[in-house]
Amino acid sequence: MIELVSASRCVECGICVKVCPTNVFDEGPDRIPVIARQDDCQTCYVCEVYCPADALYVSPYGDVPGGADEEKLAESGVLGSWRALIGWGPGRTKLAKIDTTPFIDRVLPGQPPLAPGEAAFILASDPE
Ligand code: SF4
Ligand code: SF4
Repeated sequence: MIELVSASRCVECGICVKVCPTNVFDEGPDRIPVIARQDDCQTCYVCEVYCPADALYVSPYGDVPGGADEEKLAESGVLGSWRALIGWGPGRTKLAKIDTTPFIDRVLPGQPPLAPGEAAFILASDPE
């Protein structure tokens, strides 16, 4: 669940307001987004990965609003860490490029098409 908009990091681009699929944010009077409908958050992380300033924190606990200590989050390196891990942002390698999951390899451009029934086999053999 979305827990934090860092006013000190926010560059007032408005991207999070636009990309949130459930309209959680309102633009504040100073153009810094306000979490206006926290209960509508789906914990999808879309806002966090789009934020160019690592100013948002989405807690992995979807239905346990607990507040967030910005200083502690910043010190621990959590702010922006998911965005970095999946390779969003300048100079980063997209996670899809280094993912070794066979199914992902096959659906990337330039890979041979799946044979009939192969996708079902791959999914059925997934240990997860
Ligand atoms: S995590 Fe998803 S649903 Fe929640 S505020 Fe961000 S974009 Fe909206
Ligand atoms: S995406 Fe980040 S920088 Fe842009 S308005 Fe939202 S919180 Fe601020």
